[in-house]
Amino acid sequence: MMKVPLVDLKANYLSIKDEIDSAIHEVIDNTSFIMGKYLKNFEENYAKFCKAKHAIGCSSGTAAVHLALLVAGLTEGDEAITVPNTFIATTECISYVGGKIKFVDVDSDTALINIDKLEKSITPKTKAIIIVHLYGQMPDMKRIREIADDHNLFLIEDAAQAHAAEWNGHQPGYYGDIASFSFFPAKNLGCFGDGGGVVTNNDELGEKLRLLVNHGRTTKYEHIMEGYNYRLDPIQAAVLNAKLPHLLKWTDLRRKHAIFYDNNLPENVQVPIEEKGAKHVYYMYEIRTKKRDELMQFLKGKGISCGIHYPIPLHLQPAYVNLGFKQGSFPVSETLAKEILSIPIYPELTEGQRAYIVDNINQFFNKLSKK
Ligand SMILES: *Cc1c(COP(=O)(O)O)cnc(C)c1O
Repeated sequence: MMKVPLVDLKANYLSIKDEIDSAIHEVIDNTSFIMGKYLKNFEENYAKFCKAKHAIGCSSGTAAVHLALLVAGLTEGDEAITVPNTFIATTECISYVGGKIKFVDVDSDTALINIDKLEKSITPKTKAIIIVHLYGQMPDMKRIREIADDHNLFLIEDAAQAHAAEWNGHQPGYYGDIASFSFFPAKNLGCFGDGGGVVTNNDELGEKLRLLVNHGRTTKYEHIMEGYNYRLDPIQAAVLNAKLPHLLKWTDLRRKHAIFYDNNLPENVQVPIEEKGAKHVYYMYEIRTKKRDELMQFLKGKGISCGIHYPIPLHLQPAYVNLGFKQGSFPVSETLAKEILSIPIYPELTEGQRAYIVDNINQFFNKLSKK
């Protein structure tokens, strides 16, 4: 039986093993383990890649969202708007700075924030918006920027799943005041442990972020403010630097797999929609069916691993019972949580594996119709 994992980190590593091994060894040979030139190189290259003025590495995607909220200037009781169908890191960080989590439901076609609802839910207490580029797709960021400007709101892009994604040709960090990234191993650009980064075009924010990640340090022994130890490890930076030149090629492969799925999956499943104006980078390829659990089980039996991103919307998580939401509070997110299934779409997926997945999904629905 063929085995298809949801993500194949080993295949990715082996495809550029020599480049990565020598990058890691160079850091070790130079014992440049904290800050230093390997980190600086990656930050410069990543800023260039994103066409942003500043890129600052940090210790994780969660730290990146936290940093974004720190510079957003939220104070106790200020609201930050985001969606319920995201990873908890997005909302944890609102709580870290004493902010109030305000959820807005998503659009049923894209699973991204419903922009009409976003506009209607702004109150005098709203201070920031966190847009999550879920699965690797950006919503209409031009319109969201205009809404943020109209209401004087700080705009954060949680781009943990959206390296190299675009809206109108612009990557994360262009429309937002700041964009945060995760370099968690399975993300589209991933390192060999935890890692993250933020990008911004604002010089003042860039300077502040550099201080925040490294104890507010201006020189070795001088601290002009309190900060954090949120530094990106140079060995991770070297891995990322070795991978970055391949990112666009890997993104193209993901997009090719998506086109294959779009064209070959049976009509029984709803395939993801790429909005006009968006460049979707398919961190996940999310299909929808009311038979989700049965399909997932069937595929597992055929050696195909799938995922669900995410099975429990945040407003229904035990961690947030105190927010007082219930079933039905955000119906679109709740329906999605029951119907979505992530099928493998990593760059190294072979044509044989792709076809095997499609064949088995077809088989599942053929069997169902015969019952
Ligand atoms: C992965 C992820 C994060 C957190 O990143 P870590 O590097 O795991 O801390 C935040 N937001 C979203 C949307 C993510 O997918």
